[in-house]
Amino acid sequence: MPMEPVAPMSLEEARAAEDADSRQLLSAATVEEALAVLVEIARRLTRAHQATVVMTPTVGKTRGASVTSLSRAYEVWGGYAVPSSDEPGRTARERRSARAEPRGRISASLPSDAGVLYLFDREVGDFSREDELALHRLARLAGLALESARLLREEQQARSEAEAAEQRAAFLADASRLLASSSLDPKATLDTLARLCVPILADWCFVDIVDESGTVQRTSVAHAEPGLDALARRVRDFPPGPEGSAHPTTRVARQAESLLVDNIDDAWLRAVSVSEAHFETMREVGFHEILAVPLLARGRSLGALTFLAVRPSRHYNPTDLETAQDLARRAALLVDNARLYREARRSVRLRDEFLAVASHELKTPLTPLQLRLQWLRRQTRKDRPFLPTPLVVSQLDVVQRQVDKLSGLVHGLLDVSRLSSGRLTLHREDVNLEAVAREVKDRLAVPASQAGSPVSLSLQGDLRGHWDRVRLEQVLTNLLANALKYGAGQPVHIALRGEADRVLLRVEDSGIGIAREYQSHIFERFGRAVSERHYGGLGLGLYITRQIVEAHGGEIGVRSEPDMGSRFEVSLPRHESTA
Ligand code: ADP
Repeated sequence: MPMEPVAPMSLEEARAAEDADSRQLLSAATVEEALAVLVEIARRLTRAHQATVVMTPTVGKTRGASVTSLSRAYEVWGGYAVPSSDEPGRTARERRSARAEPRGRISASLPSDAGVLYLFDREVGDFSREDELALHRLARLAGLALESARLLREEQQARSEAEAAEQRAAFLADASRLLASSSLDPKATLDTLARLCVPILADWCFVDIVDESGTVQRTSVAHAEPGLDALARRVRDFPPGPEGSAHPTTRVARQAESLLVDNIDDAWLRAVSVSEAHFETMREVGFHEILAVPLLARGRSLGALTFLAVRPSRHYNPTDLETAQDLARRAALLVDNARLYREARRSVRLRDEFLAVASHELKTPLTPLQLRLQWLRRQTRKDRPFLPTPLVVSQLDVVQRQVDKLSGLVHGLLDVSRLSSGRLTLHREDVNLEAVAREVKDRLAVPASQAGSPVSLSLQGDLRGHWDRVRLEQVLTNLLANALKYGAGQPVHIALRGEADRVLLRVEDSGIGIAREYQSHIFERFGRAVSERHYGGLGLGLYITRQIVEAHGGEIGVRSEPDMGSRFEVSLPRHESTA
C-alpha cells in the first residue's frame, strides 16, 4: 500500500492547523457540508485511509445518512468499509478492553447521539491514543458544527417562510386595494383579480357568477402559462352544469360550500364532468388539485372563485383555503355592491318616471274640472238664475267623473305608501264573490259602454269565502278597468268558478295584449308595458292587486300575447269560510 509522505509539524503549526480545521468545520452552511468537512479532517488528522460518519436515523426513516472520505489509495481501489450497525456507539477504549477488535478501526459518538464517526485503517502503524483523543475532540466540535448548521437551516427556513408570507401579504394588499377601489363594473375587476391570482396562488384561476336569473356564468379566466389562450377560451365558454349536477364550480356557486380536492385523477374528472368534451377540456388543463370557494354576501352565494394547481410542486393547504375565502368575501362584496347600485339606480329611475307620470295623471282631470266649474259659476250669476236642469246635470256628471278619477288616483297612492310600510290589514268577513262581481260590473257600466266593450259574467259553483270585501272589490275593479282600457272596442268576459278549497276569478279581454318580457314586470310597483303617451295610468293597479291577493294567501297570473288579448287569473283560498 503506497504511503503518503508525512511532513514533521511544529507545535505551533499543529495548533494553527487545528484552528483552521475548527473554523472550516464551524463555518459549514449545511449539515451535509459539515459532515463532508468532518470526515475529511478526521481522516487527515489521524492518517486513516477511510473516515465515515453515520448519522442516527431520524423519525420515520430506517437508515441514517452516511458520508465517507477515502485516501487516494482507497479511492483508486474504489472500496470502503461499511461499519457494522450493531455497535455504533462503542468506543476504541471499550474495544481495546474487549481485545477482540482489530486495531485498524476506532470510532467516536457525536454529541446528543447524532451519529458515529468511524476511522478505518491507519496509513502507518496502529491508531494511537492521540488519534483517539483527536477523534473525540473532533466529534465534540462536529456536534457544535452540526448544531450551528441546523440553526442556520432553521433561520433560512423561517426567512423563506417570512418571505412567502410577505409576498402573500403584498398580494392580498394588491387584491384588496383592487377590490376596494373599484368600481361599478365588477366584470373588469374580477378579470383583474383572476389575473392577479396567477401564478402566486394558482396556475389557473376563474370566477363564476350566479346571475339574477339563477344561471351560473363564467366571467373571468386567467392562466399562468403563456400560449394557452385557446384552451382558456374553451374553459371560459364551457356551459355550467345543470342544477344538481356534480360540476365542481357550479356546485360551489350554488351550494355555497368550499371545495378542496388533491390527487385528482381521471376517475374524479369523469365523475364531475357534464360531458365528454368537458372531461377532455379538464384533462387538457391537467390540474392535480382544485380549490374553489363560494362568493358569499349577505348570506347568499353569488358565485365561486376557483384555483387550479397544475405545477406538481403546487399544493393547497388550509392557509390557502383561508386566503381564498378572504378574497372571495371581498369579491362577493364587490359583486353585491354593484348589484345593489344597479337596483338603486333602477328604483331611482322608476321613481322619477313615476313622479312625471303621476303629476301628469293628477293634472289631467283638473283642467276639465276647472272649465266646468268656471262655466257653472258664470251661468249662475244673479242675472241668469234659471238654468235648464239637463244642462246642469250633464256638467255635474263630468265634474263627478273627474273628481272620481282624482280620488281614485289619490287612493291608489295612499295604498302604495301603506303597502310599502307593510300596513295592509284585511277585514275578513263572509263574502259571496258573485255579489262583488255584479256590483263592480254595474259600477263600471258607463266606462264599459264608453269603451264600446260589452261585459259578460259567467258563474259556476260555490263562490263564497272569508275575505276582505272592499279589497276584493278593488281587485276586480282594477282588472275590469284595465280590460276596458287596454281592450276597448272588444268584449270583456268575467268568469268565477268555485272549487273545493278556492275560488278562481278570471278577467279576459281581446285587446292589445302584453309581450312576454313584460309579464312579470307589470305586477311590480310602477311597472308598465305601454307608453304613457298612449295610455294614462300610474302602473300601480296591478301592484296593489297582487298585494291584496297575496295578503289573502292567493295568487295572480297573466296569460297574454301581443294583439291577442289578455287573461288575468286570480286564485283565492276560501279560508275558514263559515258558509
Ligand atoms: P296602469 O294601467 O295604471 O298603467 P296597472 O298596474 O294596472 O297600471 O297595469 C300595469 C301595466 O300592465 C299597464 O301599464 C299595461 O301595460 C299592462 N296591462 C294591464 N292590464 C292589461 C290588459 N288587460 N291588457 C294589456 N295590458 C295590460
